[in-house]
Amino acid sequence: MLVRFARNYGWRAYAIPVLVVITVWVLVDVCRGGLFTGDDGAAPAPATSPAAVATTAAADGDGRGEQTTTRGRGPDPATHTPAIDDESGQLPPGGPFVKQGTGLYHLAGRAGEQFGQGTEKVFTYTVEVEEGIPASHYGGDGAFAALVDATLSDPRGWTQDPRFGFRHIDGTSTEQPDLRIQLTSVGSTHDACGHDIGMETSCFTTIGNRVVINESRWVRGAIPFNGDIGSYRRYLINHEVGHAIGYAAHEPCGADGALAPVMMQQTLSLSNSFLHNLEPSEVYPDDGAVCRYNPWPFPAPQPPAPEPPAAEVPPAPDQPPAAEVPPAPDQPPAAEVPPEPAP
Ligand SMILES: [Zn+2]
Repeated sequence: MLVRFARNYGWRAYAIPVLVVITVWVLVDVCRGGLFTGDDGAAPAPATSPAAVATTAAADGDGRGEQTTTRGRGPDPATHTPAIDDESGQLPPGGPFVKQGTGLYHLAGRAGEQFGQGTEKVFTYTVEVEEGIPASHYGGDGAFAALVDATLSDPRGWTQDPRFGFRHIDGTSTEQPDLRIQLTSVGSTHDACGHDIGMETSCFTTIGNRVVINESRWVRGAIPFNGDIGSYRRYLINHEVGHAIGYAAHEPCGADGALAPVMMQQTLSLSNSFLHNLEPSEVYPDDGAVCRYNPWPFPAPQPPAPEPPAAEVPPAPDQPPAAEVPPAPDQPPAAEVPPEPAP
């Protein structure tokens, strides 16, 4: 029988028992190794092994575990103070931007319908991009113009005030725009806006009715916006267009923790005291109030703070379900009062 088996299967008849012996030996060695290598640090014990669980539990108890992967309790956001320091107004790290464009601009986007009532004035505008800024920096002319149009037509924007309306014109006709909204290189921005405070900013200048959007800010954003580049770009448009439609003055943070007014210099800081120290002649009091970033002139009402859940009491079996209590009316947003028009 065995001889016939060996004849039929050749060398495999001997190989199979040898392989079985080797496999068993390896398995035994692995088991012994798993139990005994943890102490000398040659190999970390698997996280699910009883030894690791015990060590982790001890570390959670006193926060002084020896394993570097256990850290005790995490930070408590309720006691965290946001960092307001000298870096606040600096350019965050990010994508490339151009130091100096040609100073010539080409039109971007398309003419469109009027939005907003414009009982006082309908501002016509063009969207323009400085020559020499690669489209890869800002996503192309269409993307830039679309965000300008979307921001100015947003119900949270300036048109919530019926006095204001806007209309994108193509700029090739004889009609002169009231505003030229221009994506501008850093060097040309300094020429148009000045560069006294040494931080990258944007501006509105009555010379040519230019809303000058600093490309470095468009690409990189601003530290107070915590990386929310979409909100920052909307803020940039709303703030500078705010200057252009007559709000010459800046506006301080109204209360600690409130949404920042769109005419606050949120690019540099959300802190009244920081901005006060930066430019004492500005409107900001040295009162320590720090706002939350906000891109809109008329932001949507904020949801009320959640109330602690009531203890669940099971209803009596034969009572009808309680009628739904309508929610309390929303509080009007603080920023709904329009800022004083500029003199
Ligand atoms: Zn400003």
